[in-house]
Amino acid sequence: MKKLAILGSTGSIGSSALEIIAAQADKFQVLALTGHRNISLLEAQIRRFKPRLAAVPEEKAAVRLQKALQGEDTEILWGVEGLKACAVVSEVEMVVSAIVGSAGLLPTMAAMDAGKDIALANKETLVVAGSLVMDKIKEKNIRLFPVDSEHSAIFQSLQGHRKCDVRRLILTASGGPFLDRSLAQLKDVTPKNALAHPNWQMGKKISIDSATMMNKGLEVIEARWLFDLPAEKIDVHIHPQSVVHSMVEYVDGAVIAQLGVPDMKTPIAYALSYPERICLDIPPLDLCSLEKLTFSVPDQKRFECLALAYEALRRGGTSPAVLNAANEVAVESFLSGAIRFSEIAAIVRNTLRSSDSQPADSLDAVLEADRLGRETARQLVKSLAAEVV
Ligand code: NAD
Ligand code: MG
Repeated sequence: MKKLAILGSTGSIGSSALEIIAAQADKFQVLALTGHRNISLLEAQIRRFKPRLAAVPEEKAAVRLQKALQGEDTEILWGVEGLKACAVVSEVEMVVSAIVGSAGLLPTMAAMDAGKDIALANKETLVVAGSLVMDKIKEKNIRLFPVDSEHSAIFQSLQGHRKCDVRRLILTASGGPFLDRSLAQLKDVTPKNALAHPNWQMGKKISIDSATMMNKGLEVIEARWLFDLPAEKIDVHIHPQSVVHSMVEYVDGAVIAQLGVPDMKTPIAYALSYPERICLDIPPLDLCSLEKLTFSVPDQKRFECLALAYEALRRGGTSPAVLNAANEVAVESFLSGAIRFSEIAAIVRNTLRSSDSQPADSLDAVLEADRLGRETARQLVKSLAAEVV
């Protein structure tokens, strides 16, 4: 019986992880859960899975939850300390890191410090603190399993092969809902348009990141750390059908890919049970019914966020943390109606280029870069709003 903590259990990934776990009650036990705003869902999850601990960021929500759950044995905590406590429960072997954004960094770091294996969905943790995370994994002799479908595909395509034989990685990208729109047509798309992803059901932030292709940029940075390869060896292909989840090209020209119907349960289950595979209720991939599988090079002018992520990676140090912070602020601002879709990239660009890259050699250094990135981006949002008035 593998004992788990799920950070971000009320989200899209967290809920899918719990569905898998519920169907495999003889294999997994949940000892801790965390959520944020959807308190009624967290309450239902606590009643269903009876974890020892649960936590939310805010005290008010924790008090509401405590009241609602009187008589249950789950201890309810709050704040970053509460989230961290959920990540370090002593019997837990693996922590599913599925909080969205850099809010996931400290709890995930705490889990690694406590020697837990990590199933990582929270890509922002690697974007913000990639070298610190990878050092910690070596120091603690733990394992980090990718949940992101592209990275899971690469991880699967590397099994049985030598890392030194890899020529390059090819990350596939659906291109999101605006693949065929011109720059001019992208200017005034609404949050509703942007949230309508053609192939995947996901949380709001990653859905907007997919529409701008910042998601693929963050994934390039994530791949750089997970697979220890430079940016020049990580390419992106647009593949609108989302059937080939990513590929590894070897020095002899062989390309190994992982395919499947687009369902996050496949990579989540593989991370939870590696090297075993869990039987999932997912329809077979019917290749013959697919008209075609297409691939093309992304247009980095239209999808500037992808170019900016490569730029941050080349700049190194704390630049990816700044890029990520600016993007989080810009996406929130777009969702709240404060800025236009096309202004997301402008805010990220101006924040990134007005910041100095510092060595990302401590948690304090990356947290400070995150803080400064947010501050600069918020000012830019304010000045854009002032222009409109
Ligand atoms: P989501 O918005 O559906 O869920 C996010 C979770 O994080 C929720 O449980 C929420 O309560 C929690 N949360 C949000 N803000 C928080 C905060 N400040 N402090 C503590 N908890 C907080 O997001 P999602 O789509 O499940 O994505 C989660 C992560 O997985 C993201 O990093 C995303 O990039 C990654 N990911 C998601 C998918 C997908 O298909 N959804 C695929 C690959 C990777
Ligand atoms: Mg992905």
